[in-house]
Amino acid sequence: MKKTQLNNKSLYPFEEWSISQDHFDVDSNYIGETIFALGNGYIGMRGTFEEGYTGPKGSSLEGTYINGFYDTYTISYGEVAYGYAEKGQTMLNVTNGKVIRIYIDDEPFDMLRGELVGYKRTLDLKKGILIRDITWRSPKGREVKIVFKRLVSFTHKQLAAIHLDIIPINFDGKITLITALDASVSNLTVENDPRIGSGLKGKSLIAYDRKIHSGYGYIASSTQNTDFKLICGMKNSLEYTNSYSMDEELQDEWVSSIYNIDAFKGQVISLNKYIAYITSLDFEEEDMLSHLDDILEKGENLGFERLCAEQEEYLDKFWYRSNISIDGDMSLQQGLRFNMFHLLQSTGRDGKTNIASKGLTGEGYEGHYFWDTETYILPFFIYNHPDISRQLLVYRYGILDKARERARQMGHKKGALFPWRTIGGEECSPYYPAGTAQYHINADIALAIKKYMDATGDVDFLISYGAEMLFETAILWADLGDFIPEKGNQFCINGVTGPDEYTAIVNNNVYTNMMARENLWYAHEVALWLKKNAEDVYRNLCTKLDIDEKEIGDWKIKGDRMYIPKDKKTGLYPQDDSFFQKAVWNFEQTPKENYPLLLHYHPLVIYRHQVCKQADLVLAMYLLGQYFTQQEKEVNYDYYERITTHDSSLSTCVFSIMANEIGYREKAYKYFMDTARMDLDDYQGNTKDGIHAANMAGTWMCVVNGFAGMRTMDGAIYFNPYIPEGWSGYSFRINYHGTLIEVNINRDEVAYKLLDGERAVIYHKSEKLLLDKGYPSYIYKY
Ligand code: BGC
Repeated sequence: MKKTQLNNKSLYPFEEWSISQDHFDVDSNYIGETIFALGNGYIGMRGTFEEGYTGPKGSSLEGTYINGFYDTYTISYGEVAYGYAEKGQTMLNVTNGKVIRIYIDDEPFDMLRGELVGYKRTLDLKKGILIRDITWRSPKGREVKIVFKRLVSFTHKQLAAIHLDIIPINFDGKITLITALDASVSNLTVENDPRIGSGLKGKSLIAYDRKIHSGYGYIASSTQNTDFKLICGMKNSLEYTNSYSMDEELQDEWVSSIYNIDAFKGQVISLNKYIAYITSLDFEEEDMLSHLDDILEKGENLGFERLCAEQEEYLDKFWYRSNISIDGDMSLQQGLRFNMFHLLQSTGRDGKTNIASKGLTGEGYEGHYFWDTETYILPFFIYNHPDISRQLLVYRYGILDKARERARQMGHKKGALFPWRTIGGEECSPYYPAGTAQYHINADIALAIKKYMDATGDVDFLISYGAEMLFETAILWADLGDFIPEKGNQFCINGVTGPDEYTAIVNNNVYTNMMARENLWYAHEVALWLKKNAEDVYRNLCTKLDIDEKEIGDWKIKGDRMYIPKDKKTGLYPQDDSFFQKAVWNFEQTPKENYPLLLHYHPLVIYRHQVCKQADLVLAMYLLGQYFTQQEKEVNYDYYERITTHDSSLSTCVFSIMANEIGYREKAYKYFMDTARMDLDDYQGNTKDGIHAANMAGTWMCVVNGFAGMRTMDGAIYFNPYIPEGWSGYSFRINYHGTLIEVNINRDEVAYKLLDGERAVIYHKSEKLLLDKGYPSYIYKY
């Protein structure tokens, strides 16, 4: 593919396998720290600079995060009520391990001083490394070439590494390198945007032990309230043939190795720095130091080059299964790959952690996990890396006891209510109307289990984890709803909030009721299956959860009689019982700068109007499309599109997918464009606070479920492909029932091919195809 030029909206040139920048500017620095962030699902490092940053306040956030590592604080309410979430949780900004300061004689290297003669920063999506290649002239005229390479290892969970080369260009003199760990870190605190900042007061991470010796050092810290322990360690090795001496510095929150080097024109000075993060969430406290030493030693023995090679091998495998190629639009191609790369970087895969809505790239939403995981991100992993999606669901199982406790607090004698937002499992949403009230998260998790089972047939998962979660969530729905005489004795769910956060605490939100119905039906189906195929598991679960056959039978009845409001004449579904009784928001009188509405209007003003922050009914039509007629899809799409602001980044991808299904191809493309480069082009204006992980996965769905029309139902996979005007072709791969299927679409034909596995059954539109290994692909002419 040919390189396309930078357009006036994009900060980065369009490239196939990289994001790069050939000049440095303060204005885009904050965003760049998110874009160039590295991570491996455990460690996340913002793309800040090793030497530090002296730009204006508010243009940078030094940040390193460990997935699942948080502290708590007491949420302060002006007026408390029973059952409010009591503690907030914040993913902590932890010890900065990447510090390497450089002095040329007495002049500190600083890109904002002197002259930046050459600058190129590249995030390589195939190699998984970040490279910064600089030529710098100091204020006193000394010129140096400096190259930093950084990686966060995909193959060694606790390890990151930096390689630095420095070459004096026009001088002999003294170069000093200070390579340090800096524990004087803290999180952003709440200001006036509910999406940013934490309620933590003061410092959360307190250093209690430190050491520095011969290039090796660590700082051990403890959190104030959760009492989690963290050790950040480093091992430095200098490769240099001429003379140098070493010093070290040890302070409470700072340890450093100092290399005083006699530098000569043209001679390369190289430093390797291995950085490790060990926490008491993974290891016994008394074993943490020895694990730190092991991992640092492993890093050093392998060496930076080998770590790079491992990184590339890992990514080769990742791209083999996940790559989407688009011929004909480099900007989209880049956006897609960038998004998939960040999903991989953000996702916890140890069964104890999950995906924060901003990944591990920033402090927006305090590092919390939401329904974003199950509804948006999980499909990407289910159909590309089912092993990772399993671990994400295992995380939910790990917090099931806390979800049970929460259900009790919320007045349910049995069942479980998963938290709307959390890290450790407790509900920590301080604003219940758009938090706890979103009971639909229970059904989102249940549907994700159904999809995972449909794609993998992983009975072991169902028996060990899935069934229990399905039963507990079904028990909750059964208890939450009531048969209401005024609604013809149908089963109603009152006083909840659906996905659209601009409408709160309503009765019979269609999305919630339909999803709850699905949850009840599927739990019932699984119960019957277990009874037949694993009776002891079934009996044990019945005893453990205190349920019997009658109660399980009721799940089916309550599902069957679920109330779904609908205007039979028009085919329109009100988002909830009272939605159509409200006035439509006055969009004409709303100036552009008043979006997102949540930052400019009191919630009540928003709630009393028909205005949607995000897809709600339209999302139901996508996820549960089998229950809507084509005509219903069309009229409801038209209706809700007019009143949706897309103030949430979770919205446009769903509109794109549904526009495709209905046949609104131009709209589908326009919404897709809004998702594909949302972070790269900072469409929401808040990429500096972290990536929009759900939207990133939404981009993948837009191609696979949108343009290629993929749907799965009852163990079968369907495609209904379309190729957008400007593309000459596109292709992707899908993992289904242990097979790997390649779908290749160009302007003349669609080809399906089996890459791994013996046989796959798929549907092209409604035609059934058998794909066999070793046989040529099925080809359809348009
Ligand atoms: C959206 C939620 C989402 C959260 C985290 C909010 O703005 O309305 O649906 O879960 O962001 O991404």
